[in-house]
Amino acid sequence: MFIAVKNLKKSYTTGKSKTEILKGVSLGLEKGQTGVILGPSGSGKSTLMNIIGGVDLADSGSIRVDGLELAALNDDQLTDYRRDSVGFIFQFYNLVPNLTVMENIEVVANISKAPLDMDTVLKAVGLETKKRNFPRELSGGEQQRVAIARAIVKNPKLLLCDEPTGALDYETSRSVLSLLQRINRDLGTTILMITHNTAIGDMANVVYKVRSGEIVETIRHEETTAAE
Ligand code: ADP
Ligand code: ADP
Repeated sequence: MFIAVKNLKKSYTTGKSKTEILKGVSLGLEKGQTGVILGPSGSGKSTLMNIIGGVDLADSGSIRVDGLELAALNDDQLTDYRRDSVGFIFQFYNLVPNLTVMENIEVVANISKAPLDMDTVLKAVGLETKKRNFPRELSGGEQQRVAIARAIVKNPKLLLCDEPTGALDYETSRSVLSLLQRINRDLGTTILMITHNTAIGDMANVVYKVRSGEIVETIRHEETTAAE
């Protein structure tokens, strides 16, 4: 298993009350597969993804990604893991407003061990002609493609997408999703995506349904095109 999460628990304490956000979550995803986490708002999806991405820590349980036990890493090792192995994509693109498209991507390329070539990345996301534009000059779909370029330029093993189409209309969402599928196919990047859109589950190898901090159902689609 490329991602193997076992009995992950996480609580948050506010004042004197402790709330269990993840109540013993286990999931597995093979290398090169696409997994979708489906569930209502507040069910713990982002918390789960943040822990798998090394930006938040579990209270207990095992989180193995590509053979690395995240729970056993110190802060520096966790930073290296995030920087070298994980690309993040969010609902609201999080681009740096006063940097051009190319500069936004370079920020990440410059701290990457083995970055992909800038022209290759711009071409992959279809933004060759926009490389000198600023984010505000782009449509929402284009801004999300910059964010995808920034996430893939370091050639991460794992791409974590938190509601990547949440701010986009239907047609634009479709083109962003097909771009992600193409990345999965061409670069072999394993993708884990959060959504509350059940239709997006159809493109995944595995769908995890989350309710109140638990995975209540795991659906594996054996013969999808994304496999292998
Ligand atoms: P989802 O992504 O499914 O909407 P989240 O993982 O974002 O769910 O949040 C699950 C619950 O955890 C929510 O009730 C949220 O308020 C709470 N939560 C998330 N992060 C924190 C935090 N840092 N401190 C306290 N509570 C948090
Ligand atoms: P560090 O502590 O080394 O600065 P960060 O957590 O800031 O590490 O980021 C490490 C990697 O995680 C970055 O290379 C970046 O790709 C990704 N990342 C983290 N947060 C964001 C974000 N808000 N937007 C885009 N990428 C992010």
